[in-house]
Amino acid sequence: MRYTSLGSGSEGNALVVEAREGTSVTRVMIDCGFGLREVERRLLGRGIEPSSLDGILVTHEHGDHIGGVFRLARRHGIPVHLTTGTRAAVAARIPEGMTAICCDSHTAFSIGGLRVQPFPVPHDAREPVQYVLDDGQWRLGVLTDLGEGTPHVHRTLSGCDALVLECNHCPDMLARSDYPVSLKYRIAGRYGHLSNAAAAEILRVVDRSRLKFLHAAHLSKTNNVPELARAALAPILGWQPGEIGVADQDTGFDWVDLGR
Ligand SMILES: [Zn+2]
Ligand SMILES: [Zn+2]
Repeated sequence: MRYTSLGSGSEGNALVVEAREGTSVTRVMIDCGFGLREVERRLLGRGIEPSSLDGILVTHEHGDHIGGVFRLARRHGIPVHLTTGTRAAVAARIPEGMTAICCDSHTAFSIGGLRVQPFPVPHDAREPVQYVLDDGQWRLGVLTDLGEGTPHVHRTLSGCDALVLECNHCPDMLARSDYPVSLKYRIAGRYGHLSNAAAAEILRVVDRSRLKFLHAAHLSKTNNVPELARAALAPILGWQPGEIGVADQDTGFDWVDLGR
């Protein structure tokens, strides 16, 4: 199993996960917040033919996650999986002939060799979820776009071999920024985004006994810097800050191989 980020942040998010079994490969994308040409360029940059994707998992209807999903899916005939609530929020934008499959936010399903476990998160969207993916051997947890951890989030993310974890902002930088006050409250609120410290607290609470890879994601370009995210997470793991990856808005991060 291996995974790569094509970019992460408020300007767009997309992650690709691949499971291999013998000669068969399952490849899914989580979210697509980039335009069609841009995501095709980013996919080809990682050696991925867009038409080889077996599915797109959508977390929620915010533009930085769903903005490019429908055009990519329609052009390449890729099925889209989303919760009933997310589907309702974007129903008018789903093109004719595109396959949109509703999932229950608590019920696992399979795409080829990947088991997909959605789980609900507190965020200001209709029915937002995040996903844990598992190929029978390795377990990858993805967690962005939530205001705070919940017992269910902590349980679901426990025992992962790899995590991609939102570190959206430094509260001091957010407070000092020139964002409108209402936006500051939204971001820092219980249905907003994780601060570096809130991400570290989630990491502290989950079972980390199998954890080998950690990437900070969805960093604000204005209100955070990679050094602060790494400095918050590293002490929890006893790792060097440089051992923690950061998903960049422009370049994401390269393939991480968990093994077969
Ligand atoms: Zn987002
Ligand atoms: Zn969001």
